[in-house]
Amino acid sequence: MNRLKLCDYHIHTRYSSDSDEEPENIVKHAIWLGLDGICFTDHIDLDYPETTEYENPAFVFDTKEYYKELSALRDRYSGTMDIKIGVELGLMPYLADRNEAVASSVPFDFIIGSTHQINGLDPYYPSFWEGRSCDEVVTEYFEKTLENVKSFTDYDVYGHLDYITRYAPDKSYQFDYYKYEKIIDCILKEVIHTGHGIEINTSPLNKGLSRTNPCIEIVRRYRELGGELITIGSDAHTASNVGGHFSEARDILLSCGFKYYTVFSKRKAAMKEL
Ligand SMILES: [Zn+2]
Ligand SMILES: [Zn+2]
Repeated sequence: MNRLKLCDYHIHTRYSSDSDEEPENIVKHAIWLGLDGICFTDHIDLDYPETTEYENPAFVFDTKEYYKELSALRDRYSGTMDIKIGVELGLMPYLADRNEAVASSVPFDFIIGSTHQINGLDPYYPSFWEGRSCDEVVTEYFEKTLENVKSFTDYDVYGHLDYITRYAPDKSYQFDYYKYEKIIDCILKEVIHTGHGIEINTSPLNKGLSRTNPCIEIVRRYRELGGELITIGSDAHTASNVGGHFSEARDILLSCGFKYYTVFSKRKAAMKEL
């Protein structure tokens, strides 16, 4: 089996309310795959709505307890697997100060900033889309993402930039990057000019879709605009999805002109050859 020699920087465990996975299972699977490193990035989505339609309760956990448990795991596997401890923060402009407090609550290695909620609702659920065209919803998603990158800077990479496109309830909906290229350019420029990066997220490939988040056009555009910092993440919620479709992610990055991808330690970026 080909050793992957890449690092997975987007992984969830039972600390996320939408995963039951034991952190140690993730480590064992990463070793089996031959990954160079992993970073845990469990969800914190402050003010996640409590409605009966939503499957999962609040996306919050005690960061100190999380850090303590994962540090022990990191020490136990030291020399066998390079383990980093991160978090995926759900951003909304009014949450900036509270997210800042989470970001500084423990010495995280890495922080993903993501747009999961829009006006307190989760586009994962079809009700979010009711009565509106897909274009309207997708435009709003990018507008909110732009507000998020302008109002919060304590993150390292922006998560799954076109994430909304995974969830259109109209399955015939095809995301056309060129329709949104102006606003996506504004987001990418803001990310780059504030010294941040993006990720290439392989989760849609694990679900049988033929694209990454963001799509190859956005990855290429990010590179054209001078973007360099880019992590690779599976967004795995189970051990078996860790490192999923990473060879495709590597091919996409190489085809977009990247020679390196990014890892983080104590919030400092380092580049590794693809
Ligand atoms: Zn996410
Ligand atoms: Zn995630």
